[in-house]
Amino acid sequence: MTSVSRSTDVVILGGGPAGLAAAIALRQKDIACLVVEALQPAIDKGCGEGLMPEALAALGELGIRVSEDDGHLFRGIRFVNPEHQVDAFFQNGTGIGVRRTKLHQRILDRAHAVGVEMMFGSRAKLLHERRISVNGAAIQYRWLIGADGQASSVRKWAGLDATRKEGLRFGFRRHYKIAPWSEYVEIYWGSAGQVYVTPIASDAVCVVFITRDRNLQRENIFDDFPEIARRLQDAPVISKPRGAVSATRKLHRVANDYVALVGDASGSADSITGAGLAMSFRQAIALAKAIEMGDLKLYDDAHRAIGKLPHAMGSLMLMMDRWPSLERHAMKVLSAEPALFHHLLGVHVGMESLSRFAWRQGPRVGWHWLQAAFIQRQERGMLDAA
Ligand SMILES: Cc1cc2nc3c(=O)[nH]c(=O)nc-3n(C[C@H](O)[C@H](O)[C@H](O)COP(=O)(O)OP(=O)(O)OC[C@H]3O[C@@H](n4cnc5c(N)ncnc54)[C@H](O)[C@@H]3O)c2cc1C
Repeated sequence: MTSVSRSTDVVILGGGPAGLAAAIALRQKDIACLVVEALQPAIDKGCGEGLMPEALAALGELGIRVSEDDGHLFRGIRFVNPEHQVDAFFQNGTGIGVRRTKLHQRILDRAHAVGVEMMFGSRAKLLHERRISVNGAAIQYRWLIGADGQASSVRKWAGLDATRKEGLRFGFRRHYKIAPWSEYVEIYWGSAGQVYVTPIASDAVCVVFITRDRNLQRENIFDDFPEIARRLQDAPVISKPRGAVSATRKLHRVANDYVALVGDASGSADSITGAGLAMSFRQAIALAKAIEMGDLKLYDDAHRAIGKLPHAMGSLMLMMDRWPSLERHAMKVLSAEPALFHHLLGVHVGMESLSRFAWRQGPRVGWHWLQAAFIQRQERGMLDAA
C-alpha cells in the first residue's frame, strides 16, 4: 500500500474549463483543492469556441472577465439552409467567440490568482479509501471531482456511468484567416450535418462541421454547403484541424457520497446547442456550494435543473438533423415568422420559459410541426416503396 504523503479537501481530476472552474469556485469559498491534469496548458480542444451570454455571466461569477479584446463579439444566432435563413439577437447581451487556448489561459490565470494548486502533465491512479496516487505519491481527500471529459474514467470508477440517454455525433474543427462576415454564430443545415461558424477575431473564424457519419471524409465537409465553400475558398487554414466527439449524454446520477462529476464528464447536450461551456461553469458553481454545505445530493438536483433546457433544445435540433423534411419545413416557417425564432432563442438562453413559449406559440408551432411530420411520413413511405 502506498503511504499517504499529504491530504487536501478536494481532488479534481481534469484541468479543462470545467475542472478549473470548479477549483476556482471552491477557492472562492476558501476550500482547498488540487487539480490533476494529464496535459500541459494552454489546452486546445475541438470546440466551436462560442461563449454564449450565460457562459460570460457564469465566468463573471468566477471572477473571470472575457472581453472583446480576447476574441470577437457576436450578437445572436443565424440558421441558414439552401433556401432560407433566419436570425435573432440575444435578449440577454452578447456572446464572444474566443480561441480555446486563450480561454483556457484566462481561466488558468484566475485559478493561479485564487490559489488553486495544479499539477499538469500528471497522471493519477484512483485508489480506495479516498486516496489517489499522483506520480507515485498517495494523496488523501474528502471529496473527488471528475472533470475528465467525455470519456471520464472517474465516472466509471465511481459507478456513475449508467445513462438515461446517449447518442454520439462527430465534430471537425478548423480555423480560417478571414474577416467575420456576420455578427451572428451561423449554423448551416445540410443533409449530412451542420456547419457552424463562430467569429473569433477581426481576421479569423472557427468552423465546425458536425455529423452522425463518423466515416465522412474531412476534405468533403463542405460538399453540402456551397455558400460556406465559396466564402472560404481563398481563406488560409490557420490551425491544425481537430476532431471531437459531440455527445448527448444524460446520466442517472452525477454524484454519490463523496464523488461528483462536472462538465462533459457529467453528461452533455449535443454541441450544436453551444451550451457546453455555460453548463460546465454553472455546474462548477453549484458543485462548490454543495461541497460547502457538505451534501452532494444538492448538486445532483442542481445539475438536473441546469441541464434541462439545453437538453430540450438539443433534442429539438437533433430532430431537425435526423429528419431533413422537418428541418426544411421548420426553416420555411421560421424564416416566414422571424418572431418565432426570436422567442425560441429567448427560450434557449433562458430569457423566456419553455412552457410559456409552448402555451403562447404552441398552437401555431404545433400545427406547423404536424404538417412537417406528415410530409416526412409521406417521404419515408415513398422511400420505403422505392
Ligand atoms: C465539436 C464541438 C463543438 C463545441 N462547441 C461549443 C461551443 O461553441 N460553445 C460551448 O459552450 N461549448 C461547445 N462545446 C462543448 C465544450 O467544448 C465542452 O462542454 C467543454 O469542453 C467541457 O469542458 P470539460 O472541462 O468538461 O472537458 P474537457 O475540455 O474535455 O477537459 C477534460 C480534461 O480532463 C483531462 N483528463 C482526462 N482524463 C484525465 C486523467 N485520467 N487524468 C488527468 N486529466 C485527465 C483532459 O486532458 C482534459 O484537459 C463543443 C463541443 C464539441 C465536441
